[in-house]
Amino acid sequence: MNKKATGFYESFDRKDGSRTTTYCAGCGHGIVQKLIAEAIADMELQDDTVFISPVGCAAFCYYYFDCGNVAAPHGRASAVATGISRSIPGKVVIAYQGDGDLGAIGFNNAFQAANRGDGFACFFINNSLYAMTGGQMAPTTVAGQKTTTTPYGRDVSRDGYPLRVCEVFAQLEAPTYIARVSVADTKRIMQAKKAVRRAIEIQRDGKGFAFVEVLSPCPTNWRMDSIESARYCTDVMEKTFPLGCYRDRSSEAEIIQPRKATTTLRDLLGSSTVVESVVDASFPTIGMKFSGFGGQGVLSLGLVIAEAAGRAGRFVSWFPSYGPEQRGGAASCSVVMSGQEIGSPTVDAPDILVAMNQPSLERFAPNVRSGGAVIYDPSIPVEFKPPTGVRMLPFPAIEVAKNAGVPKAVNTAFLGALSAHDLLPIDDDHLLSALADSFAAKPHLVEKNIEVFKAARQTVWEDKVEMGR
Ligand code: SF4
Repeated sequence: MNKKATGFYESFDRKDGSRTTTYCAGCGHGIVQKLIAEAIADMELQDDTVFISPVGCAAFCYYYFDCGNVAAPHGRASAVATGISRSIPGKVVIAYQGDGDLGAIGFNNAFQAANRGDGFACFFINNSLYAMTGGQMAPTTVAGQKTTTTPYGRDVSRDGYPLRVCEVFAQLEAPTYIARVSVADTKRIMQAKKAVRRAIEIQRDGKGFAFVEVLSPCPTNWRMDSIESARYCTDVMEKTFPLGCYRDRSSEAEIIQPRKATTTLRDLLGSSTVVESVVDASFPTIGMKFSGFGGQGVLSLGLVIAEAAGRAGRFVSWFPSYGPEQRGGAASCSVVMSGQEIGSPTVDAPDILVAMNQPSLERFAPNVRSGGAVIYDPSIPVEFKPPTGVRMLPFPAIEVAKNAGVPKAVNTAFLGALSAHDLLPIDDDHLLSALADSFAAKPHLVEKNIEVFKAARQTVWEDKVEMGR
């Protein structure tokens, strides 16, 4: 009997609790996903599986698979799989990608993961075009194939040749398993089932990178019915993309020991003291934004505060954002500190904003929460109406840093000001030790920055506080 795989949810919320998916009739996605869902359920791996959904027709896999789910940006499922397989070793990590997603936008992510032999299974659904966006040519479009962007057929002299991903990956040393299968008919589906299971077994056994390309019909964009599109798969696509197992080293592959992340916050700051975060319901969640130009020490300021909060036993996140310029471009970072685990490192409505230039002030101050505070240098004119209930605190950080003999340490002056104004619920010992460690590579700057911090703390400026209206 044709049963629903128990690796799927009982019902799919995307379709009002029904069991229908978003896929068109005759589409191969549903078949491949059923094979994966059956495999993880039969192997009792659902509770240990993280499934990474792509962008494309399969974007809603997290509505279907009853396991851990992460949605990746376009082309990045393999990169996300690399991160997850390293950060939570021992899990079965599955990246699911289409041919626009993997073959074009994210090719290098998948290629480098394959070259490193990262510990995840990558299922690559090849339907020879960009399906979700209406059928444009993809790297896998076969010679002569008509798509919306090749209405006269793909001309290899103009458009290049179809990309054979299995054959490319087979040149690499690291992958454990590489296979190309099809879901065009029952016999092929049974072969695909074996390949899917082999790839997942390799993950269960910790034996490295497994790649399964699946030729998959897309009746809608091929403008064919289900039977014609299945025939197109076998009669046309297989000539360009021959089916077969390109590599299976699973029997001789050694179990790969999980790799550690290469850099941690503590590595960056040169600290050897690891403090466990403690759940403390009485400690509020505080979102902070630090913003200015690249080169002003905006990211360092946030990093020092994050490190100090970590040393104080708080949960903390630090999330930088900056442009391509080394100096002078916009730079900002978000810091969240909390007595609870942090759900998201992004801060859209900060409690505290440190704005080190006018564009930052204008961009972020209107979003500060009521009851929050904006701290900025008074040399920056406030040419907007501050939000209601927000304290606007002009602190002369440039002057303080200059008078202390370290004009570049404006960020440290702001740190001292935050501390002096009780805006940071972190004691000075933690702030100063984090500040000192942040100059591990430039120890001659430690004392100077501590002087700036102390000068900022002693600066009288409360009477300049303006209240937003
Ligand atoms: S557009 Fe093509 S790939 Fe997308 S769901 Fe429909 S048949 Fe499947």
